[in-house]
Amino acid sequence: MPELPEVETFTRNLREGTAGCFALPGRIVRGYRLHWRKTLASPEPQQLDEWLPGQKVVAVKRRGKFLMLELTAYTMLFHLRMSGDLVTAVLGDDVAFKHIRFELIFKDGSRLIFNDPRKFGRVWVTPDPGEVLSRLGPEPLDASLTPAEFYSRLQGRKRVIKSLLLDQGFIAGLGNIYTDEALHLAGIHPQTSSHSIKARAAGCLLEAIRMVLSEGIARNGASIDWVYRGGEYQNNFRVYGRQGMPCPVCGTHIQRMLVGQRGTHICPQCQKK
Ligand SMILES: [Zn+2]
Repeated sequence: MPELPEVETFTRNLREGTAGCFALPGRIVRGYRLHWRKTLASPEPQQLDEWLPGQKVVAVKRRGKFLMLELTAYTMLFHLRMSGDLVTAVLGDDVAFKHIRFELIFKDGSRLIFNDPRKFGRVWVTPDPGEVLSRLGPEPLDASLTPAEFYSRLQGRKRVIKSLLLDQGFIAGLGNIYTDEALHLAGIHPQTSSHSIKARAAGCLLEAIRMVLSEGIARNGASIDWVYRGGEYQNNFRVYGRQGMPCPVCGTHIQRMLVGQRGTHICPQCQKK
């Protein structure tokens, strides 16, 4: 499932025209095609017929795991969920993808294609992106999230740290991979109760989260299966998916366990309870 670094990579590619994508800013929308009704979360398709034609892409941004196209008067948001993928092509081009759910078509004949085999991905168009994003917690890489603020947010919850970090309302953008990597780097056991984490450890954890996310972005995200292509961060995993292999810090065998029903990877030596 794409997490913050993977969505950031899509965002950058669609903004700057890298990795085989067209840059979207400046393009004028002609219309759209909806191939799977449920993919469009909001509004009704008839409303889109009215809203979209003539809108210009002003910017491509990210918030948490949402990719946002800022249009002249509206914002289009994508959530890739399990298997969503975004590519660009020109009309008439034969695209190899078999699970196209939504296409945004531009006046110059180019198009943005949302491919999604598992069908959980969603698209929203709204005059106010706050309607979709209002429940998200702070951006982990935003400097306005200070160690003191992060510590106080941990203190305010009595939850298992791994589950709390996966909660998008607590902090936005983390999923299973980067949570496991950050907890190992910070030396914190995933079942630790959030309010028992001391100020200094909380500061280390925030720093670890920022480090693994930044490394992930620098390597274009992690490609662990067929879902997400082009990333290289999987070659740098410390614990994720490495059960039975040695911890890069101490050599102890990495273990896999369940925390809140999510497969979780730890070094039992570096991450003592
Ligand atoms: Zn270790």
